[in-house]
Amino acid sequence: MTYANSPDVKGETIQLRGVSKTYTTAKGSLPVLRDVDLQIEAGEFVSFVGPSGCGKSTLLKIIAGLVGYDEGTVTIGGQPPREGREDIGFMLQQSVLMPWLNVSKNVELPFVIARRRGPDTPKRVADLLELVGLSHAATLNSWELSGGMQQRVALARALALDPGVMLMDEPFSALDEFKREYLNIEVAQMADRLGTTTILVTHSIGEAVLMSDRIIALGANPGRIVGDIAVDLPRPRHRDMVGSDRFQKISNAVRDALSIGFEV
Ligand code: ADP
Ligand code: MG
Repeated sequence: MTYANSPDVKGETIQLRGVSKTYTTAKGSLPVLRDVDLQIEAGEFVSFVGPSGCGKSTLLKIIAGLVGYDEGTVTIGGQPPREGREDIGFMLQQSVLMPWLNVSKNVELPFVIARRRGPDTPKRVADLLELVGLSHAATLNSWELSGGMQQRVALARALALDPGVMLMDEPFSALDEFKREYLNIEVAQMADRLGTTTILVTHSIGEAVLMSDRIIALGANPGRIVGDIAVDLPRPRHRDMVGSDRFQKISNAVRDALSIGFEV
């Protein structure tokens, strides 16, 4: 089954089996994830929701290869996670733009780092800026950008090497509600078009319902999956779906799953 509208899904399958993780801290060991089993299909858009500290970011970093795990297996496109994989794009809550580089140069950075800068790079950078609606801002400096524009640059940069997997850790949480909803819709439609496998970490149940094919609800202490809710709203997603009966039913199902997770 494919989830994207794109005819050729390039997204990769993500598989976690019995994944557990304990951090060692000055105060002793802190179990954060216990026995996480999860299969995400190629092209699927999945959100992780759950209370603060339940391990959402840790789970995302494990998939990105930025943090190790103690037990279980993880594969992305059949391969174990590894830092610096070019087929994985990562976008954070606060965009980390290089202040001495303009918008265009920031988007070019992944090509430079991966030693893939070539004659066709300027065209690719221009295409990426168009994709995120920033063609008019190519020569602006990062301090001249609004929060929404900075996140658009971060998105273009995460998509630069055409990754099969996009990981996003609360990328919209610093934005006001209007900008946020606007970008929610745009990014959901973009993921459809590009066919990436996408994981979004969010605090907002509404955002998760609006964007995802499936919502994974996580409980805390230690982090574990307490709900797996399908979002059977049609695609492409639109703002006027918010508040429909179906939308409310799905939101309530997520809330129900999460309240089970709070009973410890
Ligand atoms: P979430 O993203 O759901 O808020 P995190 O994955 O960031 O949760 O953190 C889960 C728990 O692990 C929290 O209690 C946090 O304080 C702790 N934690 C996160 N990163 C580290 C680390 N590098 N070392 C020790 N503890 C950590
Ligand atoms: Mg987090």
